[in-house]
Amino acid sequence: MRVGGRVEWLLEPTTPAELVAAFQACRERGIAPRILGGGANLLIDDGLLAGAVLTTSRLNKLFRAPLETSAAEALDGDENDYSRVAPPERDRNPRFVAWAGSTLPSVVRAASDLGWSGLEGLAGVPGNLGGGVAMNAGGRWGDMWDVVERVRVLDPDGTVRDLTRAECSPRYRDGGLGASIVLGAVLAFRVDDPPKVRERVRDYLLEKRRIQPVTEWSAGCIFKNPPAEKSNGRSAGRLIDEAGGKGRSRGDAVVSELHANFIVNRGAATAADVFTLIEDVRDLVRQNTGVELETEVKVWR
Ligand SMILES: Cc1cc2nc3c(=O)[nH]c(=O)nc-3n(C[C@H](O)[C@H](O)[C@H](O)COP(=O)(O)OP(=O)(O)OC[C@H]3O[C@@H](n4cnc5c(N)ncnc54)[C@H](O)[C@@H]3O)c2cc1C
Repeated sequence: MRVGGRVEWLLEPTTPAELVAAFQACRERGIAPRILGGGANLLIDDGLLAGAVLTTSRLNKLFRAPLETSAAEALDGDENDYSRVAPPERDRNPRFVAWAGSTLPSVVRAASDLGWSGLEGLAGVPGNLGGGVAMNAGGRWGDMWDVVERVRVLDPDGTVRDLTRAECSPRYRDGGLGASIVLGAVLAFRVDDPPKVRERVRDYLLEKRRIQPVTEWSAGCIFKNPPAEKSNGRSAGRLIDEAGGKGRSRGDAVVSELHANFIVNRGAATAADVFTLIEDVRDLVRQNTGVELETEVKVWR
């Protein structure tokens, strides 16, 4: 959203092992570091953010594991550079090994180029693999966890663990991993016809551009959709729209006219503008419908 200030310490590990080492170094100094993916679902306060941030931006690696590699082995060894091994044919072992910093658009593109199906629903969703798994990013055409076979996490106590899909309980916009950091994941797809997968990606992308302000600065949906029984099945965006929220503003922060659940930064918005506007919108919907909207976007203060 391009608001917010600076952080005291920014650490940029280049391998999962470096991320673990950086995390341990912070812990030894009594600092609980925050973890930053693509920043596509984050609102960061103005001013100086105390402490340390670990960014996954340099962990941007996506591999095809060799045929004989199991999902468990695939994540082993940060130095496994599978890109140096000739990949199997596209219809054998339709799996990627993705480090936390692989961008979601690059994963969607790589899968669609190979004709692998399962992640088309994430077309047009910005951010990184780690953030996508932690948030269970997705929408009406599917969610991140539809393709997660195995995930490697770093727990708050410094333990590294591998979890299978069956050991995890992802929910709506929540990967269910608590405070653990995603280091990487094995993603499993269905082999399909490349033109069909590409067509679905293109269709979803066009639809997303039609209904969301994807070219403006935003942090995605601000509020979670409330449970259907509380809102008569209306989405957060619809509730805001019906309450007359579209176009409301604070400084350069404006409720999008295209999609009422997006706040866009018209250029010079501050985090304070956005926080105030979020509360304005929450009050408006509460007064009009009695529904209390819950924030989806993550806030760092
Ligand atoms: C234009 C636009 C459209 C969007 N459309 C959608 C959509 O259709 N569906 C949808 O679900 N989302 C959507 N989003 C929101 C966003 O793209 C997703 O939530 C995405 O998964 C965020 O990933 P990120 O890497 O940017 O996470 P960040 O914003 O960097 O972080 C989000 C949260 O995840 C945590 N996190 C980040 N990396 C890790 C990690 N490696 N391990 C553990 N925790 C981590 C952060 O600490 C933070 O709490 C949209 C956003 C924008 C700007």
